[in-house]
Amino acid sequence: MATTQIAIPDAPPAERTVEEERLYRKQRLAGAFRIFGKFGFDEGVAGHITARDPELPDHFWVNPFGRSFKQMRVSDLLLVNHAGDIVEGDQPVNAAAFAIHSQVHAARPDVVAAAHAHSIYGKSWSALGRTLDPITQDACAFYGDHALLDDFTGVVLDLEEGRRIGETLGDRKAVILRNHGLLTVGHSVEEAAWWFVTMERSCQAQLLAEAAGTPVLIDPEVAEHTARQVGSHAAGLFSFRPLWDVITAAQPDLFD
Ligand SMILES: [Zn+2]
Repeated sequence: MATTQIAIPDAPPAERTVEEERLYRKQRLAGAFRIFGKFGFDEGVAGHITARDPELPDHFWVNPFGRSFKQMRVSDLLLVNHAGDIVEGDQPVNAAAFAIHSQVHAARPDVVAAAHAHSIYGKSWSALGRTLDPITQDACAFYGDHALLDDFTGVVLDLEEGRRIGETLGDRKAVILRNHGLLTVGHSVEEAAWWFVTMERSCQAQLLAEAAGTPVLIDPEVAEHTARQVGSHAAGLFSFRPLWDVITAAQPDLFD
């Protein structure tokens, strides 16, 4: 088996002040929305990415309801508390964003960010009610590290349903919500956003492969080994970098 040694730098040291860290997260969040918009992950007003506030861990930053991913700016982001009150910002928050993300952030204190959208391949795959198989190197990032919520009860508006999503996610990086779409989490905004991008494309790859034939599965030992290579927190953080570089060069108004 050919192996490639990839030098992945560690996450940046936590030397930023609270104010610097807050701005850092909000800028990555606005950038992640622009990237999701560029990939076409938006479907009307559906979808949300959240970043935990560095000072108030039961508060998170989120997109306003009805604002296009493609036009998101740092100044658009809302700060929402554990009760669903908008603490900063004057636009409305999506009730589903609060119901899902408040419970995921509560269930996973290690997680800084969570991403959810109604992207076409993720929701198509979710309709099959199956987890992803290790059929490509990239899909191995999710090997043994994602779950399936094998149920659909309508738009998630109550906290109990959000709690079930958090419970199903467990300590993993992603959950497939049957008949709905994907949700990913990370120790950084960058990581949560990257897992979403590559999970969506892994769904696309498996749909294509199964439409054309019977995919060959990667052996479990090799899949586990590959998961450690491509599925780490550091790999997720680092993989976001080229997307960030391109989007910030092309759309610098996201910093407004
Ligand atoms: Zn949704």
